[in-house]
Amino acid sequence: MSEIDLRSDVVIGVTIPARDTRGRVARLGAVVDAVLANHNYPPLIEKLLAEALTLTALLGALLKEPQGQMTLQAQTQGGIVDLMVCDFRAGELRGYVRYDRERLADASMSPALKELFGDGYLAITFDQQKAERYQGIVPLEGKDLAEAAQSYFAQSEQIPSLVRLAAEKRDGQWTAGGLLFQHLPEGEEGRDRLHTRLDHPDWPHVAILAGSVKPEELTNPGLPLDDLIWRLFHEEEEVRTLPAVALVKGCRCDPDYVRSVIRKFPAEERQAMVGDDGLIQVDCAFCSSSFSFPPSDVE
Ligand SMILES: [Zn+2]
Repeated sequence: MSEIDLRSDVVIGVTIPARDTRGRVARLGAVVDAVLANHNYPPLIEKLLAEALTLTALLGALLKEPQGQMTLQAQTQGGIVDLMVCDFRAGELRGYVRYDRERLADASMSPALKELFGDGYLAITFDQQKAERYQGIVPLEGKDLAEAAQSYFAQSEQIPSLVRLAAEKRDGQWTAGGLLFQHLPEGEEGRDRLHTRLDHPDWPHVAILAGSVKPEELTNPGLPLDDLIWRLFHEEEEVRTLPAVALVKGCRCDPDYVRSVIRKFPAEERQAMVGDDGLIQVDCAFCSSSFSFPPSDVE
């Protein structure tokens, strides 16, 4: 087995077979700093994105296919943030936030979701090769992103779920952590079992144990995730962990890929992309960077 550091930039799966429970636990350190590096966001937006990236890692780790992609998108109306996008593929994370700088300056110190997103929606999309593409959309409601994710699972997937997210900046470096636990009594397939599950005694028990996690445990880079899982569930008969996945910053905006995409456009559309400087410029919102090349590169 490869040596993956279970303290940081990692997500790990958990199952508690006797309780019909599955979970994911993640901690992010350098990967958050790497995603934030080019953006120059104010602290409040950095914290929001750090938590969103953690949620993205937790949800991405639910993908059954190693090359599947999970995209989390906040679509908003009338909020300080007007767009937030994060995605996950094979342990690669990226994300960005578009927001109103002036309105943010007037915001409260720890704004509620409603203040940040207005009448926002959270869209969560699972793209896999074999399984059907699946997208669920729920209102961005609750006090924070973790609550919004919980209601996503309750409303869109009808799976009782518990989500906790935390992020903290110390000495100029971010550490974020989170967990997601879900009750799946009849396995992972099928729908419309909510009423049978909610009165199932196993779930409240697991929710209390998982919910006892403290924000400072989630963000403690000295506490390996397997130790954290042990702390929460050591009284359970059997707790299994799944192989850990290392998390890195990854973007698909590399120049060769972008050229290959532009080459597929008709010649007149490629011509229309050429700027006053005679070059085609491509911006990547995820990396907050741009690169340009002559049109002859894509003929
Ligand atoms: Zn990029």
